[in-house]
Amino acid sequence: MATSMITACSGNNGQSVNCPADNFEYKVDKFADLEILRYQVPDFESLSLNQKKLIYFLSQAALEGRDILYDQNNKYNLAIRRTLEAVYLNYEGPRDEKEFQEMVVYLKRVWFSNGIHHHYATDKFEPTFSQSFFEKAVRSIPAEKLPLKPFNNNVENLLQKITPVIFDKNLYAKRVNQAEGADLIKTSANNYYEGVSEKEVDDFYNKMRDPNDTTPISYGLNSKLMKENGKIVEKVWKVGGMYSDAIEKIVGWLEKAAEVAENDEQKSVIHSLIDFYETGDLLTFDEYSILWVEDTESRVDFVNGFIETYGDPLGMKASWESVVNFKNLEATKRTITISENAQWFEDHSPVDPRFKKDSVNGVTAKVITAAMLGGDCHPATPIGINLPNANWIRQMHGSKSVTIENITSAYDQAAQGNGFSEEFVWNDEERERIKKYGFQSDNLHTDLHECLGHGSGQMLPGVSQDTLKAYGATIEEARADLFGLYYAADEKMVELGLLPNMEAYKAEYYKYMMNGLLTQLTRIELGNNIEEAHMRNRQLIAKWVFEHGKEDKVVELKKRDGKTFVVINDYEAMRGLIGQLLAEIQRIKSEGDFEGAKKLVETYAVKVDLDIHKEIRERYAALNIAPYKGFVNPTYEPIMDKEGNIIDVKVKYEETFEQQMLRYAKEYSSLPTMN
Ligand code: ZN
Repeated sequence: MATSMITACSGNNGQSVNCPADNFEYKVDKFADLEILRYQVPDFESLSLNQKKLIYFLSQAALEGRDILYDQNNKYNLAIRRTLEAVYLNYEGPRDEKEFQEMVVYLKRVWFSNGIHHHYATDKFEPTFSQSFFEKAVRSIPAEKLPLKPFNNNVENLLQKITPVIFDKNLYAKRVNQAEGADLIKTSANNYYEGVSEKEVDDFYNKMRDPNDTTPISYGLNSKLMKENGKIVEKVWKVGGMYSDAIEKIVGWLEKAAEVAENDEQKSVIHSLIDFYETGDLLTFDEYSILWVEDTESRVDFVNGFIETYGDPLGMKASWESVVNFKNLEATKRTITISENAQWFEDHSPVDPRFKKDSVNGVTAKVITAAMLGGDCHPATPIGINLPNANWIRQMHGSKSVTIENITSAYDQAAQGNGFSEEFVWNDEERERIKKYGFQSDNLHTDLHECLGHGSGQMLPGVSQDTLKAYGATIEEARADLFGLYYAADEKMVELGLLPNMEAYKAEYYKYMMNGLLTQLTRIELGNNIEEAHMRNRQLIAKWVFEHGKEDKVVELKKRDGKTFVVINDYEAMRGLIGQLLAEIQRIKSEGDFEGAKKLVETYAVKVDLDIHKEIRERYAALNIAPYKGFVNPTYEPIMDKEGNIIDVKVKYEETFEQQMLRYAKEYSSLPTMN
């Protein structure tokens, strides 16, 4: 519900807040539709020894959960990854032959997506090497190198299971199916459910829910729901339960982290998380979330656990993720200004007063430096996070919102001079504006999205969080984006010193429309619909504004030399439309208007104009830019004295993508192949 992903292009200017070293090499690798970048961790050296140790221990905890995510994404992911890695490491045939090279690309894609489905589109990748090559290669390496245990220690049994999973197009075709009318559970290839129908899932959890409970737990968040001997049971992810081997390791590192916590509040946050991992009790998870959201003083902070529910078409089961970070003190001044004015923004928003909060509480916002990314935040990563997700905790205790600026800065640096702006922006005036204000207005929009957007507004009494079902995530992201867009164009921004003038927001508006109407389509295969919630939200907003401003030519699509461009004729009128849509989306959310949500999403957010899609993809392909990006992590090396005490921690930026993925597979891979 609450992470925001980077847009396809993040402008083209050099004004980075973190002043990265001139010679830092951001680009690491490129394959398929992906590019691997490296991010810096500025100011790590200036942290205290205890803070460095804390980050080191939390980083270890962040990496130990990696295999959980693979298994959550599909039950055969670990078997496939481990088999491919074994071939990669032990194959003695010619490594420069085409089939082997294509298999390596496939393996890299598996690493990038934490499984066999595209990390964003959730479709299964099509292998570009042959089944016969794969089988031959697997048979050619020593059997003891292969993950044969769950397959009766027999290579043929392994092949029989995983070969069709890789090569049969129709088997496990989509990780998260959102198509209207289908049984979303049965047609989704994730491992959150097994042998149950959507109706059985609904019935199972509806029975638990009490409509009068004002502080409901996050039902089903940390378990797999499956049929066992005809009975539906939850397999809870905890110490002693499913994924125990990995969770025990996470707990071990968290215990070390607790010993060097910065203060008592942070210590109890960590202990409470350990408690949750040990019991699996969702009441404890809420207690932990409250402690976590209330710890605003610590410099070092982290997310570690079952958090986001995008991978479940019903939005209940959470994927495992981690982000270890510390506050960027200078840039945080910006978000403090926003937070201090949160009530003003709430009061002046264009939504019906019934849906506004009388008092906005506890929006704590900060700009952070990511120190380690793990699980569902790696290699692809969000640029902003707003947690916790439980609405009642957000209302009663507030939420924490972050912008990850060393990540946005790395994107920005890597995008310099790639030709994108020259190809897709209408004229020099727009291009100059984007160059001048793009990075700044982008970061501000993320701040506003995270620290005001998600935290704004209120539900009418009795309306539950899940009413909008499969449309909920798109509506929620649209709400947050619209709030940010609406205020980016407010004079208040200039008054508060957040933007230099009333020109700067136009860079964000232009980029948003260009992305939502055109360039984000580069991420979609020809002929497919838009599935992912953030992408749906962007097209929803851009298309709705375009259609509703058509008569007055607020925004136009113009052709030049056979190429389509966005032209914005009236920025003020565009802001008016954004305000109107914000009011409508907030109404839908607050009233739990499922039909309204469905109509908006199905009309504007899902379908793609085939001609434009084709054109955009061709123009983009000519630029040779990867539409998706992800990161290798830095490594942290503890320096010990003779007694084995850590006396310093060094950060290093040396690994290639392959080196990092193979090392993680070796050092942080405690789960069995089949769980
Ligand atoms: Zn969001």
